[in-house]
This record gives sequence, structure tokens and C-alpha cells, in this order.
Amino acid sequence: MRCFPNATACLYLYVVTCLILMIGTDRPRCPSMIRIKHDMCHRGVPGSTTGLSFAVDGGIEVQFATHEARDGLLEPDEPEPVTVRNETGESPFLLVVDHAGNLFPRALGRLGVPADECRRHIAWDIGIAEVTRLIGVAIDATVIQQNYSRLVIDCNRPPGSPTSIPEVSELTAIPGNVGLSDSQRAAREREIFWPYHRRMANELDRRRDSGRRTILIAMHSFTPVFKGTARPWHIGSLYGRDPRLSQVFLTLLRREAGLVVGDNEPYAVTDSSDFTIPVHGEQRGLLHLGVEIRQDLVAEEAGQRDWANRLARVLRSASEVILADSCGG
Ligand SMILES: [Zn+2]
Repeated sequence: MRCFPNATACLYLYVVTCLILMIGTDRPRCPSMIRIKHDMCHRGVPGSTTGLSFAVDGGIEVQFATHEARDGLLEPDEPEPVTVRNETGESPFLLVVDHAGNLFPRALGRLGVPADECRRHIAWDIGIAEVTRLIGVAIDATVIQQNYSRLVIDCNRPPGSPTSIPEVSELTAIPGNVGLSDSQRAAREREIFWPYHRRMANELDRRRDSGRRTILIAMHSFTPVFKGTARPWHIGSLYGRDPRLSQVFLTLLRREAGLVVGDNEPYAVTDSSDFTIPVHGEQRGLLHLGVEIRQDLVAEEAGQRDWANRLARVLRSASEVILADSCGG
């Protein structure tokens, strides 16, 4: 269901609804509780739905299905923003991939970015979707991934932050992100960002409510060279306020032959540069970890398989160590 294009239409229908409800009843009654979702859906508020509804005395709820929103983004035949794999996986691990895809909504073209740039790291985390899928299969973990390019909206940035919808990424200008209106930004949040994070939150709620332990792993890959500077690490173990799992993971990785392992490199997790770990990991008090793998190692199928096997093994060991520690007090 889509929302009305403007608040005037919402108000008009509210008034009409009042009149309809008052006619034909023994005693006139007006809605005592009004929920106009118009503003919510145009601002991309988490948990909001599109459409317009009024709840009135006696539990009557009236909902209107309406025409397309003014700044609607995804057409019905376009791919969903979220893919969930191995939904019934029994592992405590939940693997999430904020930058899995490099799709662009048809309505946005490629944001004025050349096609070859859209295959580079600026548009997505090369190789990580397949590595994560394979890990999910190996350890029977559920995977939740986001399919649209981070150039459309970065699903690991707080909405409204300067890098949420970047006008420049590394050294590449993104013309289609310049001068956006509030409603254009809200459409990207509403149709891509929030569906992904709501799906993740729903999964975490479901596990919590059933008493199931969850270890959240945010999977990423990083470019080997950023703004002309080469990065030496093969893999990084990332955390913000809570290093518990990350330190165990780091120790285990450093036992692997020939690996250069970054401790909060090439990035550290912060509230301004991240969303997934601060919100879904830290705020819920879950064991969690950010993983960054260098993209040249996982760009091809053989590397993806090798890294998936290695990380499946290391993650299993890490969970045994940390869960044994937490059980032992
Ligand atoms: Zn990433």
C-alpha cells in the first residue's frame, strides 16, 4: 500500500471518514484516536508502514490503499532490497551483509556514475555476498543481505549522516546524489534502508523471544588500495564498545599461517561511521563482530571458497571459546 502524495489529501480523507462514521449511528462519535501515517511514511520512520489508517472508538480501523507515492523508488517488478538465506538455520550466528549488492533502482539510473565505476568497491563489497552465503551453508547460519548499491544509500550509516547518501565516494563524484530533496532521501531510507534493518531487527526479536542465543556477525570486504594507499591486512576484526568476540576472533586468526590481521583495521566501529553493530549488536548486548576481508582475496570463486572454509572454522572455534567462557562465569 502506498501513501498519499501530500498531507492535504490525508486530511481530506480524514474529514470524510469522520462524516461517514457519524452518519448512521445512534450517537455521533468522532475518532478518539487518530493515526495518520502519512508523515511517518514520508519520513521513513522505523516501524512505520505506508498507507493511511484511522483507528476509532470501538476498534474500527479504516485503511486506504492509494496511488503511488510522489517519490516512490522501487517498482513492483524490481528486486527486493533484502534477501534472507537459510532462514531456518540453527546456528547461533546471524550473518548480515550491509553492502552485498550493487543494484540500482530503475528510477535512479546509475546516479550518473559510469558502469565500470559501479562494479568497483565504491558501489558494493566485492565478493562478500558469496563468501557469506558459503559460510552460512557451512555452519547452518541464517544470512540477511542488502541488495542495492551503497551509493543509493549506505545501509551501514545512520540515516541523515553525511556519508549515508554520498555525493563523492573515494574520488568518484556521484551526480545523482547531489541536491536531493528531503522526500527523495526519505524514499531511499523508506524503501531500502529500513526494510533491511527491520528484517534484521525482526529476526533478532524472534530469536530473543524464543530464548535463542544470537551472535551477530557483520560481513564486509575492503579495497586493497584506498586513495592511493595500499592496505597490508588480509582481514580485519572490528568492534566498537564491546571487543569480547573480536579479541577471540583476532587471536584465532593470528594462529593461521601467513595472515596479516587488522585489529580494528582498516576501520574501527563508531556510532557515526556504522549503524549495524552499534544498533543491532551493542544496543541489544549481543556478542558481535565486524569482519572485513580484502577484496582481491575474494573477488574470484576459488578465493571465496577458501575464505568461507577458513572463516567457518574460525567462527566455530571462536564461539566455543567465548560461550565456554560466558558459561563458566
Ligand atoms: Zn562494507
